Amino acid sequence: MLMCAKHGETGVIPTVSKNLSVAMQKNEAKKQDIATIYLRVYDEGEFLFDQLFFTHKEMDMPHLKDEYLIENDDDDALFSRDVNPFFSGGAYCVKCFKEYMEKIGFDLNNLRTSSGLTI
Ligand SMILES: [Zn+2]
Repeated sequence: MLMCAKHGETGVIPTVSKNLSVAMQKNEAKKQDIATIYLRVYDEGEFLFDQLFFTHKEMDMPHLKDEYLIENDDDDALFSRDVNPFFSGGAYCVKCFKEYMEKIGFDLNNLRTSSGLTI
C-alpha cells in the first residue's frame, strides 16, 4: 500500500522502473518511451509465474533485455544483479499508472502477460 496524493491509500505497481517513474512524475514519458520486459520463472522445469516490467525505452533498454528467463539460481542471481537496480526506487500508484497510460494512449489490455494491474 502507498499514500497517493490524488487517490489516498492505494495499491502499488512495483514493476515500474525508476527512470520511467521519474519521467511519469515529470509528465515527460510519452507512448513511444514505454517499453516492457517479459520475465518467465521456472523451477526445475515447472512454470511458476510470469511478470511484466515497465521501463523507459531510451534510458533503460540499452542496458536490459526484452525477455528474461529464470530457470535456476544462477539465472535468478543474474536477474537480481542486472535488472533489479533499475527498479530500485521505482513503483507507482496503480490508479495513477493506469490513468497516465490511458492519457498517452498506451494499451494495457494488449500486453504479453497480465500486468498485475488488479483494481
Ligand atoms: Zn494515485
